[in-house]
Amino acid sequence: MKRVLKIIAWTVFGLVISLFALGALFMYKVQNGFPVSYETEKPNLSLAENQPAILLFSKTTGFRHGESIDASKPIIQAMAKKNGWAVYETEEGGVFNEEQLAHFKLVIFNNSTGRVLNDEQQVALEKYVENGGSLMGIHGAGDNSHHWDWYVANLLGTTFSHHPLNPQFQKAQVQLESSVDSSFKAKLLATWVGNDEWYVFFDQPKDAQVVYYIDGEKILPSGNMLWMKDKNFGMGKYHPVAWHKMAGKGKTFYTSMGHSKDVWANPAYVNLIEQAIVWSIGD
Ligand SMILES: [Zn+2]
Repeated sequence: MKRVLKIIAWTVFGLVISLFALGALFMYKVQNGFPVSYETEKPNLSLAENQPAILLFSKTTGFRHGESIDASKPIIQAMAKKNGWAVYETEEGGVFNEEQLAHFKLVIFNNSTGRVLNDEQQVALEKYVENGGSLMGIHGAGDNSHHWDWYVANLLGTTFSHHPLNPQFQKAQVQLESSVDSSFKAKLLATWVGNDEWYVFFDQPKDAQVVYYIDGEKILPSGNMLWMKDKNFGMGKYHPVAWHKMAGKGKTFYTSMGHSKDVWANPAYVNLIEQAIVWSIGD
C-alpha cells in the first residue's frame, strides 16, 4: 500500500513539474517570439512603371486579424485603382531586400504581427525608410509581438501595453487633432464614432504628429486578467489613435484602429487610410 502511494505521489509531482516547465516555456515564447520561418527568395515583381507602388504586407506570426486583413485588401485595391497606385500584395518576406524595396513608395504592415522578417530583411526595411521610404502600420502592426527596437521606435515612438478586455470593444468619439497638417485637415472628418479595440500604450508617441485621438477617460482601459492586475492605467485623457513621424529622410504613419473587418466598411476610417497613403507617397 505504501509503495502504491509513493508511486502516485511521484507521478503527481512529475506531472506538476512538467506542466510548470511547459507553462514557463510558453511564457518565454510569448515574450521572445515563437520560431518563425522566413522567406528569402526574391519574388518576381511586375509593377507598372509609371505608378507609385505600395507593398501591402499582411504576414502574421503572432495574433492574426484574419477578417480585417481579408476585408482590407479589396478596399485598398479599389483605392489604388482610383488614385493610380500599383499594389503588390504579399505575406512573404522575400521582397524585403534593398533592390526590390526601392521600387516602392510605401510599405504597409497590414495588421502584421510577430517577428515577420529575418535580421537582414529588417535592416533592408530600416535603410529603405531612413533613405526616404515610407512605412505605415495598421492596428496589430503596433502590438508588442514584433521584438524589433528600430520598428517600435520609428513606427510607434511608444510601446504597446495592452488592449482593454472588459469590454474588449468600445465605442468612442474619434477627434481630429487641430494641429494636424492642412493636407489632412482638409480631407479628414473632424469627428466620428469608432467601435474598436483601443490599444493602450505606455506613453504618448514621441516626436509624433497626432492625427486622431479619443478621450481616454471615456473608455474603460482595463486589460486586467487572472494574475495580471496592472493593466488598467490607460494613456490618460489625451489618447492618440493615429499619428505620423519622421524616420531619417522617411515617413511613418500608424493607426491603432482596425481590429475588425467592420472598419473597412466605415468611410471615415477608409478615408483616413487613403489620406495617410496620399501623405506617405507624396513628396
Ligand atoms: Zn486587435
